[in-house]
Amino acid sequence: MSKKIIIIGSGFGGLSTAAFLAADGHDVKVIEKNDQPGGRAMVWEKNGFRFDMGPSWYTMPDIVEKFFNEFGKSAKDYYEIKRLDPSYRVFFARDDIVDLPGSLEEIYELFDEIEEDGAKKLKKFLDQAKYQYEVSVESFLYKEYRSIWDMFNLKMLLEGSKLHVFDNMDSFAKRFFKNERARKLLQYTLVFLGGAPKKTPALYALMAYIDYQLGIWYPMGGMTSMVKAIESLAKKHGASFSYNESVEKIIVKNGKACGVLTNKKEYEADIVISNADYAHTEINLLEEKYQKYKKSYWEKRTIAPSAFLLYLGLDKQIPNLKHHNLFLHNDWVEHFNVIFDKPDWPDKPSYYINCSSKTDPSVAPEGKETFFLLVPIAAGIKDSPEIRKEYSDKILSDIEKLVDFPIREHIEVSRSVSIDDYKSLYNAYQGTALGLSHTLMQTAFFRPKHRSTKVENLFYTGQYTHPGIGMPVTLISSQIVRDIIRKEYGK
Ligand SMILES: Cc1cc2nc3c(=O)[nH]c(=O)nc-3n(C[C@H](O)[C@H](O)[C@H](O)COP(=O)(O)OP(=O)(O)OC[C@H]3O[C@@H](n4cnc5c(N)ncnc54)[C@H](O)[C@@H]3O)c2cc1C
Repeated sequence: MSKKIIIIGSGFGGLSTAAFLAADGHDVKVIEKNDQPGGRAMVWEKNGFRFDMGPSWYTMPDIVEKFFNEFGKSAKDYYEIKRLDPSYRVFFARDDIVDLPGSLEEIYELFDEIEEDGAKKLKKFLDQAKYQYEVSVESFLYKEYRSIWDMFNLKMLLEGSKLHVFDNMDSFAKRFFKNERARKLLQYTLVFLGGAPKKTPALYALMAYIDYQLGIWYPMGGMTSMVKAIESLAKKHGASFSYNESVEKIIVKNGKACGVLTNKKEYEADIVISNADYAHTEINLLEEKYQKYKKSYWEKRTIAPSAFLLYLGLDKQIPNLKHHNLFLHNDWVEHFNVIFDKPDWPDKPSYYINCSSKTDPSVAPEGKETFFLLVPIAAGIKDSPEIRKEYSDKILSDIEKLVDFPIREHIEVSRSVSIDDYKSLYNAYQGTALGLSHTLMQTAFFRPKHRSTKVENLFYTGQYTHPGIGMPVTLISSQIVRDIIRKEYGK
């Protein structure tokens, strides 16, 4: 039976849930506080430069394809994807630069150069990562965890030790590789996925399979091509969208969600689904008696990092950079400490630079460069225009030396985004960029649930829920919500 469904937020979670539920015949309306879809994946455009403000690594193309297949479509029906080769450039030092090739054979050669028997060791590591990936996709990702027994079931008991759920990434990688550069190459993704190697289950070694074997891709036009594709898919099935409208309250009567109140009006609904930050939804949109996860819950979590981001439109391309560039030249243990243990602005951070204009002529005027810098920083620390100005000068001067290019002399447009913007743009708890870290106690059953246990007809999708952070897996979160709604209310 068709239900009236309100979805709060149009990030990848909200968009994909809208597409799924509209295709199932429900009457779906998405309410988004910002002026465009995409959430963290929104775009900023100025003077002919176009920046994807959030996700820029298109990984797990198999999962994205599965999503479109659910609608009888393929990603190719909407946009072209290109495999990047090299996948990315890594700066270990000014004169120690490594390009991670797009083919596995060449990656093996590279590891042989980095460490004795490197290829042999990597092969073993990747066999393990492939196994972890395949078991996860088949048995653990597309699944709602309501009870602890859904997680520690027979399969997990049989496979748990082989999956290395209870090891951490740091000690796991050390078992394979002595060389620190090799270990950094296998673990850097964790920095950008909101975790520290010592605190992240070794199950996430599967990221190496995603990176090296499935490859790093780019959707032409930018990540926004994918945002537009899912929005148009949802609209085609009848979903409607309202932008510049902010939900202020979820209306609950007799323990059931029955609508929302926005800054413009009140809407009735049979089902409410929140894609907005989970902490914001619980603390600010629900009365305390209806909150399953109260303020005290969030205070005890490991909140994933925020970020310091600089979007610069440059009048010239930087020869020494590729599309994706990782700067792992500093002591990253110290960087993890100032993110998770002694929160402060990191003095010598690792960081990431994206220049999608190297691949895509549509994102910058001819011969010019879109340059986007991301430094992971702790959520909740003090942010101000003065701190940002000082910090950007410091980091840009560091980068200029490493890439041998006077970036600051070539800036045409510039914008910084950090903690305070995450709070104001997305209602993000403590200004986190990524939500909740992937520690063992914040994985699967231990992540906030897809359905409220305090309010009937209230559901959650997006990066705070299982499977977690990242564009492809938020699509899975929405599929789980779709399946719950099919089961509970029919198609
Ligand atoms: C800088 C950065 C880089 C990243 N890089 C990558 C990457 O390269 N690859 C990758 O796969 N992932 C990456 N990620 C992670 C990925 O972007 C996220 O996991 C994913 O986009 C989260 O989607 P979501 O739908 O859960 O949430 P969001 O995108 O945050 O969507 C939530 C939406 O809810 C809206 N909202 C909030 N409150 C309200 C309200 N009260 N009323 C109405 N609307 C509201 C927000 O405005 C927002 O649009 C990155 C993230 C960031 C921040």
